[in-house]
Amino acid sequence: MKIAVLSRNPELYSTRRLLEAAQQRGHDALIINHANCYVVMEKGLTSVHSTLQDVGQVDAIIPRIGASVTFYGSAIIRQFEMQKVFTTLGSLALVRARDKLRCLQILAKADVDIPRTAFAKHPRDIQSIIDQVGGTPLVIKLLEGTQGLGVVLAETKTAARSVMEAFYGLDANILVQEFIKEAKGADIRAFVVNGKVVGAMRRQGQEGEFRSNLHRGGSGELIKLTRAEKAMAVKACDALGLKVAGVDMLPSARGPLVIEVNPSPGLEGIETVTGIDIAGKIIQYVEENIGNTEGRKKDKIGV
Ligand code: ADP
Ligand code: MG
Repeated sequence: MKIAVLSRNPELYSTRRLLEAAQQRGHDALIINHANCYVVMEKGLTSVHSTLQDVGQVDAIIPRIGASVTFYGSAIIRQFEMQKVFTTLGSLALVRARDKLRCLQILAKADVDIPRTAFAKHPRDIQSIIDQVGGTPLVIKLLEGTQGLGVVLAETKTAARSVMEAFYGLDANILVQEFIKEAKGADIRAFVVNGKVVGAMRRQGQEGEFRSNLHRGGSGELIKLTRAEKAMAVKACDALGLKVAGVDMLPSARGPLVIEVNPSPGLEGIETVTGIDIAGKIIQYVEENIGNTEGRKKDKIGV
């Protein structure tokens, strides 16, 4: 089977591992740089091309789309979908998950527990939304931030107000969220493949840091998830239409709360911490579903 990993960087751990896992299992694997692809449309016909490489006929794609190229990446995935190429990441699911607001709206509607969150645009609403999320401390998040950048903890009302005014003044879209202090700077990353948690780790932020992102100096350790945590991770993926994803949850007094779902989760941290061949599990999922493009038709989420 010919499997393409869509990635802009062949040197990245995740890209290398997926390529290696596909080859080990006897597949013809290649990397397609989606940023170098272009699409052509005419009546009844759509196709993907690249001036730099032959993208030819592939049986499946495993998209690894960075946050800065979500729009372009989703267009390229969509084109492959239209050509009935199996994908581990649907274009719609990618777009849903990447926008923190849309993602939380969908999760809340699907009865997934999340921290109480508000979204507003006008400075007039600042006081109301501070009250809505239970006062300070609270967390302010840029809608399209990643790796912990763009996530701010405001300890006091004065701080919350001034940070929100600054973001509104810059026309930035922000979420305001209840601060989960019981998490104590830690969160849980559950790696889901095809409706199952295949690996999990607990990430702890550096001393004095409330953000647990590994990119912010956090460290990961192996944990065994509770049944409730596993069920919540799978439910979040189902709600968004994601088959391969990293679900981030905060442990709280009222149980696990999903804060985000990553549609192109990195493999390095989770494979290192758990010792599990996650790349192999993704390839196995591809093998089981090749030729199956029915999943998209069953997608009834509608937004
Ligand atoms: P990013 O997309 O930048 O990773 P997240 O929403 O995942 O943004 O937030 C980054 C980190 O900040 C999380 O992994 C978690 O450790 C911490 N965090 C996020 N939201 C909250 C919250 N509501 N309460 C407590 N800690 C939080
Ligand atoms: Mg995160």
